Amino acid sequence: MEKKFVEELTSQKEDFSKWYTEVVLKADLVDYSPVKGCMVIKPYGYAIWENMQRILDEKIKETGHVNAYFPLFIPKSFLEKEAEHVEGFSPQVAWVTKGGDEDLFEPLAVRPTSEAIICSMYSKWIQSWRDLPILINQWANVVRWEKETRPFLRTTEFLWQEGHTAHRTFEEAEEEALRMLNVYKEFVENDLAIPVIAGKKTENEKFAGALHTYSIEVLLADGRALQAGTSHNLGQHFAKAFDIMFQDVDGERKYVWQTSWGVSTRLIGALIMTHGDDYGLVLPPRVAPYQIVIIPIWKNETDKVKVYNYIDEIYEVLKKYFRVKVDRDEEHTPGWKFNEWELKGVPVRLEIGPKEVEKQEIYVARRDLRTKISIRRENMIQDLENLLKDIQKTLFERALKFREENTYEINNFEEFKKIMDTKRGFVKASWCGDGECELKIKELTGATIRNIPLDWKEEEGKCILCGRETKIKALFAKAY
Ligand code: AMP
Repeated sequence: MEKKFVEELTSQKEDFSKWYTEVVLKADLVDYSPVKGCMVIKPYGYAIWENMQRILDEKIKETGHVNAYFPLFIPKSFLEKEAEHVEGFSPQVAWVTKGGDEDLFEPLAVRPTSEAIICSMYSKWIQSWRDLPILINQWANVVRWEKETRPFLRTTEFLWQEGHTAHRTFEEAEEEALRMLNVYKEFVENDLAIPVIAGKKTENEKFAGALHTYSIEVLLADGRALQAGTSHNLGQHFAKAFDIMFQDVDGERKYVWQTSWGVSTRLIGALIMTHGDDYGLVLPPRVAPYQIVIIPIWKNETDKVKVYNYIDEIYEVLKKYFRVKVDRDEEHTPGWKFNEWELKGVPVRLEIGPKEVEKQEIYVARRDLRTKISIRRENMIQDLENLLKDIQKTLFERALKFREENTYEINNFEEFKKIMDTKRGFVKASWCGDGECELKIKELTGATIRNIPLDWKEEEGKCILCGRETKIKALFAKAY
C-alpha cells in the first residue's frame, strides 16, 4: 500500500511518453475532455498556470504594455487579408458557420491567433505618430486544429498571452521583438528554472505572415526540443493588408511596423519534461502551487493533539511567507502522503511528529535531491527561504548541465544522423542557409533547425549536408 503510487509510475527510461501521460493525470494536473485534443486543466494544474501568469503579466506590464481583450471570432474576410497568414493557418482553423438554426452570411474563424482582428482595430485607432507605439497584450484561449496532440505541449485549444504592438519605425519594432524575447528568456530561466536558447527562426520555420521570428528553445529530458515561446517582427505585412497608416512627424503618411509575441500553457509541459523524475513532478518553488507541505505524524490521540498544536503554530507563521498546505487527511498514512506529494512535485515537505515537537525542530525533505535535514523552529523562516532558493537554483543548474551534456558540435552528416537516431539532443552544425538543404536534412534525420542562436558567433564551416562554405551555425534537434 505504502509504495503503490510510485510503483504505478512508468520509469522515464522505460517509456518517457507514457511516463509523461501518467504524471499529468496522476498528479491531478489535467483530465481528458470529450473533445479530442482538448484538455480539462484541473485546479492543481491551473494553479501552476496562475502563478506563471501572475509573474509574466507583471513583467509584461513593467515593459510598458497594457492588457485588453478582443473577440474570439474573426470574420473569414479578415483572416484572408494577409495572404501568407491565411495560407499558414488555414489547415488549422475551426469555423463557425451557423448561429442557432441560421447559416451565417460570413463564416467566423475561432481565433488561432489574433493578428487579424487586432489589426482591424489598429487601423481605426492609429492616425498619427502621436498614437504610437501601441503596446497591447491579451490573455486568452485560442484554437488550432492540431493533428497530433499531447496535454499542455500541443492541444487543440490552449491558453496563452499574445502581445500585439505597433511602432513608427522598423528599428523600434525590432527592438520590441527582441525585448520581449528577452523577457521570455528571463522568465523561463529565472522562474521556471529552464535554460533556453534564444535565436532566430529560419524562413521555413517562421510565423505565417512575419518578416522574421525569434524563439526560445528548450531541450527536454528525452532529448527532444520544444519551442517554448516566439516573438515576431511582423514588418509592414499586416499594416499593408489592414491599411494601418499614420501621419509621421514629417507630415508623410506611412505604414506602421508591428510585432506579436506569445507563450502558452505549453510551458507547463516544458516544466514537467525538464524537471520531472521517476517519482513524478518536480516543481520550481517560484511557480509551485504549494511551496511547502506539512505532514503530521502521530500514533495516538495524545501525540495527535501535541503535533497539531505545534503544526498550527508553525503554519500561522509560515503562511505569511510561503504557499503552504497542511495535509490533514486522516485516511492515508504519512508514508502514502510522502509519495503523493512527491508525485505532485511540492518542493519542500515538512514531516512533523512528537519527536519534532519535543525538540522544537522540523524535519525537512527536499523534492529535487530527495534529501532530508532537521532545522530549528526558531530559524525556520530563514532556513526555508534559503532552501527554496537553493532548490530553484539547483533545478536550473541540473537542467543546464543536462543540456550541455546533450549538445553536440558535429561536422559529419553520418554522425549527425546517428545522434538523431539514437540519443537525440541538440546539434550545433554549419548550414549553408538554403531552405532546400534544411528540408532535406529534416527528411533524412527528422531534425529541424530550431533556431540560429543569437549569441553564437559566425564561424567558417561547411554545410553539414551539401558541403558549401558558410558562416552560419544552426541549432538542430528533433522537436515536439
Ligand atoms: P505562434 O503564434 O505560432 O508563434 O505560437 C506562439 C507560442 O504558442 C508557441 O511558441 C508555442 O509555445 C505555443 N503554441 C503553439 N501552438 C500550440 C499548441 N497547439 N498548444 C500549445 N501551445 C502552442
